[in-house]
Amino acid sequence: MAMALAGLKALPCSASHDAEDARFVQARQAMVREVLQDVAATAAETGRGALSSAVEKAMGRVMRHRFVPPDLVNVAYENRPLPIGYGQTISQPFIVALMTELLDLSPDAKVLEIGTGSGYQAAVLAHVAREVYTVEILPPLGRSAEERLKALGYANVHVKIDDGYFGWKEHAPFDGILVTAAAPHIPPPLLQQLKPGAKLVTPVGPPFLTQYLTVVQKAEVGTVTTRRVLPVAFVPLTRGAGSP
Ligand code: SAH
Repeated sequence: MAMALAGLKALPCSASHDAEDARFVQARQAMVREVLQDVAATAAETGRGALSSAVEKAMGRVMRHRFVPPDLVNVAYENRPLPIGYGQTISQPFIVALMTELLDLSPDAKVLEIGTGSGYQAAVLAHVAREVYTVEILPPLGRSAEERLKALGYANVHVKIDDGYFGWKEHAPFDGILVTAAAPHIPPPLLQQLKPGAKLVTPVGPPFLTQYLTVVQKAEVGTVTTRRVLPVAFVPLTRGAGSP
């Protein structure tokens, strides 16, 4: 994957678009328009007819072409999931935007992501929250995402290689938790690490069958309410050796 970056200078994320290839900027703008159309078309199910300006801006800034394998750079801004190796995928931009939106993060939020993958979703979160903690179970993916995020200047993203079922206790509680792999149930440790009043957004369902994007809200008293949003297809949340 590092080869894809040959010839492209590592730029801090705040770098102006002038330094970036204009075709990528245009393709990304078109992608954001498609994402907004999908958001509007699914408003009845999701309860969101538009993106907040913070999420829309984040989608317009993150260089998705830097998060996909070299042979897919030319299709990086298509509104669909793409393979990133090891049987895993970078999610569809619409789903990334919707999940981020559903978290209702404030700019000073501390957020946890389970399933770093390419690091793309973490980069989007990094634009709308203060600190992003992300856990990846596959070491090569976790390591390359960490290097990529560092090269792009995302100093507020912290990557850990571990079984994300257990969250990241040292940094809990979180103002939002996003899970980008599907499990038949919501991991109890994640609910424990969620602040009262905060939301957890996750696909729920069996592997390779219908899963539902689900919003879980923890009430101030600690009880939870869940809401099914949309049918989705995510790779399964796998478990580390020796896990219960
Ligand atoms: N958010 C990613 C896409 C995630 S694909 C992106 O933006 O590119 C789902 C990821 O979850 C895969 O990388 C997979 O290896 C990881 N994963 C699966 N089970 C996991 C677990 N128990 N803990 C942490 N990561 C897990």
